Amino acid sequence: MCIWRLFTCCFTNRDRSHVVYYETPAVPVPVRAETPKAPTQTMEVVESLSQVLGALIVADSQFPADSQFPLRIAPRCRSCMERGTLKNTGESNANGNTRRPYYICSVCKKEEVSKGGSAYDVGWITWNDNKGIADANPVCECGEISRQDRMGTKSGRSGVGFWTCASGSCSYYSEDEKGLTWKQLGYAQRRATPFRPWLI
Ligand SMILES: [Zn+2]
Ligand SMILES: [Zn+2]
Repeated sequence: MCIWRLFTCCFTNRDRSHVVYYETPAVPVPVRAETPKAPTQTMEVVESLSQVLGALIVADSQFPADSQFPLRIAPRCRSCMERGTLKNTGESNANGNTRRPYYICSVCKKEEVSKGGSAYDVGWITWNDNKGIADANPVCECGEISRQDRMGTKSGRSGVGFWTCASGSCSYYSEDEKGLTWKQLGYAQRRATPFRPWLI
């Protein structure tokens, strides 16, 4: 056997099986130690922090848990998240909404006006009263009783009824008498049952 052959025979795959001392020795797999549990004291601190955080979130929520109107905290605009500005419709209102308090987003409204836009509903957040809210109303995406409302003169469909989130917190909207959404109607408006409001 030549020297080269003698040298490589120990390293080729073909011959490796014959070289016992090159085989990887079986190494026992160590048993993984169980992750130590956090000390009880730490867990208590975490729980306390969670409770405080939860309370803060509820306090900052734009939709009060009890759904009482007038709202205790100004609701946020769903477009820009700014707090709404409280206004009043005053003595004369073409849509029959005399002296009704409502929230509007001054930021979005101002932006619409500065752009030269005329979308009358830009910046609208919600009414700040109980009108149109009844137990039998459909439920909005917040899981709360929705508000029955009617379209105004500027919509071109004055008097047509619709359902919306009572506090303007979610995007729930329906023109169907039973409150079915556009999606639930299979995106076919013809399946909706139009209605005239009976609560306002
Ligand atoms: Zn806004
Ligand atoms: Zn809602």
